[in-house]
Amino acid sequence: MDILVDNCQSTFVPGRVISDNIILSHELVKGYGRRDISPRCMVKVDMQKAYDSLEWNFIEQILEFSKASGLVANKEKSSVYFGGVDMATQQAILDLLEFFKGRVQLIKNVLFSIQVFWSQVFVLTKKVIKLIEATCRKFLWTGGVELTKKALLAWEKICYPNVAGGLNILDITVWNMASISKLLWNLCCKKDKMWVKWVHSYYIKEQQIWEIMPTQVSWVVQKIPKIRSYVQKAGIMEADLRNTTQFSVKKMCILMRGDFPKVQWRKIVCNNLGSEKWIFILRLAAHGKLATKDRLMKWGVISGQECPLCLTQNESINHIFFQCDMSIQVWCKLLQWQGINRAAMPWLEELKWAEDYARGRSATAEIYRMTLASGVYHLWIERNQRRELGSFRWLVVLDVIVG
Ligand SMILES: [Zn+2]
Repeated sequence: MDILVDNCQSTFVPGRVISDNIILSHELVKGYGRRDISPRCMVKVDMQKAYDSLEWNFIEQILEFSKASGLVANKEKSSVYFGGVDMATQQAILDLLEFFKGRVQLIKNVLFSIQVFWSQVFVLTKKVIKLIEATCRKFLWTGGVELTKKALLAWEKICYPNVAGGLNILDITVWNMASISKLLWNLCCKKDKMWVKWVHSYYIKEQQIWEIMPTQVSWVVQKIPKIRSYVQKAGIMEADLRNTTQFSVKKMCILMRGDFPKVQWRKIVCNNLGSEKWIFILRLAAHGKLATKDRLMKWGVISGQECPLCLTQNESINHIFFQCDMSIQVWCKLLQWQGINRAAMPWLEELKWAEDYARGRSATAEIYRMTLASGVYHLWIERNQRRELGSFRWLVVLDVIVG
């Protein structure tokens, strides 16, 4: 393969990825903005038709070894980067490279935009990670990108695995760290990549990868030695990396994420065949994180704590599921419908009871889990509507739920 395709071709070959050349380019342009740098210039030429489309006369030209390869520079995507070059010389070079005439791009702007772009497709900066996370968070709680409501459950907990009471959402911070670990693995295994050779010959030389902390390197390469302590914390040593033939970012992610205490009610939520929104509310309720009036009072949002369902007692999660007169009626009907004859219990006891009764894959267990989720969801929705409208739709709702 190396004879046919040069090492600097970093994509479209198994084992090679676009980020290989991104790292190398960072190394090559680093320091271009410095004042005292020795004059240098780099030309990035984007080839038209390199892979966008295949032209037979291009193949013919290659085969005949005619003139050049037939590749034409794509002016729109090509750029020239200068470092320490005076304006007159810059213009002279640009004149020489005809296709760049009249199109001078200042290094600062170019490097800045490139960094912004690359950090998104590759090693993400903390700021970018924060932005992405904030957008996801806002979307989760509001369905839009404007944050107007208080998040009911911390984002960190939302990212937890299902058994730990989370939604198992990809933690971008951890994922990014795992991706950087893959670069460390590349270095340890001395993969046949240009950037790896570069880092070895310029910075590592005869030193131990696990000990070096090179200075004067580009920000991307700087991140690689810094990841060592996190890799170690995940239980992976240098020898382990060396002995790994195939690196899995996902597996590293799981190792880095670590273990979470499992929640007691995991089986009710994880194996629930009910609708996503039922389970979402059930999960929040089990966490004790629904915005019930007792909590709203603590936040200073409201002054009265009256339960919108019975209008007599104070509202809390324990009251609304299933200690309120209204919810007891609904819940007992739902229990009877499943052939269970017992009184409604306080919320935590109900959860515990469900965890014992509704484990496993039997139809009885599955129906119980769904009924619990559905009951909790509809009671909560009714409570919200009553709170807003103050109307009496109760009997209608009872008919809908119990049938
Ligand atoms: Zn009540």
